[in-house]
Amino acid sequence: MDLDIDLRSDTVTKPSDAMREAAATAEVGDDVYRDDPAVNELERRAAEAVGMEDALYVPSGTMGNQIAVRVHTERGNELLLDAEAHIYRWELAGVAQLSELQTRTVETGERGVPTAEQVRAGLVDEDLHRPGTGLLALENTHNYRGGRAIPKARIDEAAAAAHDAGVPVHVDGARIFNAAVALDTPAPELVENVDSVMFCLSKGLGAPVGSILGGPADFIEEARRVRKLLGGGMRQAGMIAAPGLLALDNVDRLADDHANAARLAGGLDALPGLAAADPDTNIVVVDTSDAGIPADEFVPACKERGVGAVAFGDYVVRFTTNLGVDADDVDEAVDRVAEVVA
Ligand SMILES: *Cc1c(COP(=O)(O)O)cnc(C)c1O
Repeated sequence: MDLDIDLRSDTVTKPSDAMREAAATAEVGDDVYRDDPAVNELERRAAEAVGMEDALYVPSGTMGNQIAVRVHTERGNELLLDAEAHIYRWELAGVAQLSELQTRTVETGERGVPTAEQVRAGLVDEDLHRPGTGLLALENTHNYRGGRAIPKARIDEAAAAAHDAGVPVHVDGARIFNAAVALDTPAPELVENVDSVMFCLSKGLGAPVGSILGGPADFIEEARRVRKLLGGGMRQAGMIAAPGLLALDNVDRLADDHANAARLAGGLDALPGLAAADPDTNIVVVDTSDAGIPADEFVPACKERGVGAVAFGDYVVRFTTNLGVDADDVDEAVDRVAEVVA
């Protein structure tokens, strides 16, 4: 059976007809020569959307994060970040491979962001024996912590503690607009006091490909060189940037995903043996332990019934609402999951 209700991720969304049309008709040029009008326009509008001086279009969120880490740090530095950060967990130790860093993790629990005290405790000075902290990386929304939207005050608190020690701050904002919508705080305010931010066009915003790295002009200039180094210099990229421009208009619709996630969490939590916390945004994390069904059996059982989900732990399953799923689909998904736990 096909996954007719695909809740594996918000990356599974297919481009709209308007996006396909925009791709087909995009005026293009060689972006390595800065000649592609759609890419130039996208970088300008994306920088504005997060309140940064400049921005760079990159093929993926992972590349955007890895470029940021490399530009901010020196070889042999430490990178300070949450123990469940995407950069630490799911980017193939890229910070070791591509930037030659050592990581120092902080256990932030449900909070998802270190306190000022945790930041201060995690920073190391550079001396004859110690490598020095090169960067503090934060994540908003926090994926593994269940799509948690981190309020501006907490970001600012952590950033100030790092800045006091002269350490720059990067935000992995793959879903920064989900945070902005959930908190009713414009994205530029959320990242007002950090040095760079990455966000994905290809998730809830619905673009087929691409992410954005935003920061000061001199940082983006260096980021452009590192993108080339990593093989991310693209040519007639307007074909994929033009749909990305339309994706920037999809911010407000993220509220629908959040409402659907709340509906889904309520429905799943009411099923016997399942526990789902109220989601902040579009990610619903379900504990299946009382049902006695491990995630690696639960997920295939959902799949057999056409519902896509992913394992997030031994007895933890993640469902992510997205623009391909409406409230009726959510209700239908709950009915089918009810068969799994019956
Ligand atoms: C998805 C995601 C990324 C990586 O984005 P890709 O485009 O899949 O490489 C980075 N950080 C977080 C928090 C994410 O959820």
